[in-house]
Amino acid sequence: MVNPVEPANVCKDCKRVLENFVPCAELYHHFLGKEVSDPDFWQVHHLTVLTYSIQHPTFLTKNGRLEMQKMLKRFIVDGLSPQQARQQFRPFVSNQNRTWKITTENVDAPSPTTQWHMTIGQIRVDNSEHYCEDIRKWAWITLQQCMYDDAS
Ligand SMILES: [Zn+2]
Repeated sequence: MVNPVEPANVCKDCKRVLENFVPCAELYHHFLGKEVSDPDFWQVHHLTVLTYSIQHPTFLTKNGRLEMQKMLKRFIVDGLSPQQARQQFRPFVSNQNRTWKITTENVDAPSPTTQWHMTIGQIRVDNSEHYCEDIRKWAWITLQQCMYDDAS
């Protein structure tokens, strides 16, 4: 029997259908736990954080989201290392040098409408090889969709 998709069953941010009602945030924290405890998983940490934030932008301002997309692009397209990024994005990370906010308390922020081609539920965590491959793919697909959305 096929169950109709109930709203409670769907992530309001990335529109993923939640298997067993496990929210995306729970998967995300599980991933972060694996990353901090295993250097082989840690390699893609920067991509995990950016991609998750872009797909779950409830608390991001528009500038914050665009800045994260820009960072993701630098990593994926320009091949920037996390160390180089830390140098380059210091002004972005530092509050004093920023004239706009990354996050907002505005609960009326519009819910994103993008139907992502890949979501956090599709990441394999059985080993670090699969994990890194899937996180990179997830980041790449997400970035491509962002660029397409912004151009249209
Ligand atoms: Zn989600």
